[in-house]
Amino acid sequence: TVLTDMPKYKMNNGLEIPAIALGTFLGFDERGLIKSENKMLRDVVLQAIDVGYRHFDTAAVYNTEDEVGEAVRMKVGEGRIKREDVFVTTKLWNTRHRREQVVKSLEETLQKMGLEYIDLYLMHWPIGLNDDYTHTDTDYMETWRGLEDAQQAGLTKSIGLSNFNKQQLKRVIDEGRIKPAVIQIEVHPQIVQKELIEYAHSLNVVVMGYSPFGSMIKRYGIQFPGPRFDDPVLVDIAEKYGKTTAQVVLRWLVDRDIIPIAKTVKYSRLKENIDIFDFKLDPEEIEMINSFNSNTRYTLPSFWQTHRHYPFEKVENPIADPFIKN
Ligand code: NDP
Repeated sequence: TVLTDMPKYKMNNGLEIPAIALGTFLGFDERGLIKSENKMLRDVVLQAIDVGYRHFDTAAVYNTEDEVGEAVRMKVGEGRIKREDVFVTTKLWNTRHRREQVVKSLEETLQKMGLEYIDLYLMHWPIGLNDDYTHTDTDYMETWRGLEDAQQAGLTKSIGLSNFNKQQLKRVIDEGRIKPAVIQIEVHPQIVQKELIEYAHSLNVVVMGYSPFGSMIKRYGIQFPGPRFDDPVLVDIAEKYGKTTAQVVLRWLVDRDIIPIAKTVKYSRLKENIDIFDFKLDPEEIEMINSFNSNTRYTLPSFWQTHRHYPFEKVENPIADPFIKN
């Protein structure tokens, strides 16, 4: 089955955003950031477009912008889709936070992608860093002006934030000229994010949820505590609707008006993960999944916690910075 009518949300700038995105972060290994081999990711994006995905999430730091862009160009070239039928999200990296660096960074991204514009440019973190990863005190409001410049120049249709907390989101809304269209944050059964999401929605800011499978999969080679794919609560719900537990969790995000960003490089899972628009969870089922919450983050860069704009709660024993090579 192919999804032909992807649901969309309207953003606060009047533009539309598709209700599910494909993630394209391939992770880290011993050598650092994983880069796709033999254009594997490009081919995944080609398949994704064929089965109905219309939204792709990448970032300058993922090293996948080129392959996402190439796949989009190929499908537009074939006449399979029009450029305006797909929504491309990417992110500014932390080492480019000075206002004058932002437009330049997006121009480099567009060059890599071979696209004339992207749909959504996010500030990946509120944290500014130097090239050697020492901290800068560049205020994220300065960076935001740069994102506003990029939108005004037509390089991106919309701008938004990622990994900002409630106070930081509020400040950008209060002090910015353009209101963020989107905030992208970690959302899964172990981090339900009730307060931040209610706040964002009350201000008409669309929420994208990353790492939707939470504890269901191993992360960094570790099985963290929390529900797995065979969790009995999730299995019960899945059986009721004739769905998989992966689909139930993705639908839980959709039913909370959150755009899930699910990553897979497997064809069968591409189809599975998008096949979630023909059922709906009951409020009680949503509550059952909410009650897995333990406010656990798998993206917790505690090595940045001494940064003045660090968005999350501090931990006692911060981990070593994987970006700094010894
Ligand atoms: P996900 O929660 O999407 O999990 C991805 C993993 O789940 C992969 O190992 C995948 O394996 C597996 N998987 C996917 N579908 C299924 C399925 N139906 N059944 C069983 N297993 C499945 O995690 P991510 O952390 O990758 O987050 C998704 C995306 O969110 C990223 O790719 C990125 O785009 C974005 N993100 C943004 C961040 C930010 O700071 N803004 C931080 C982290 C992520 P396989 O590929 O083998 O199918």
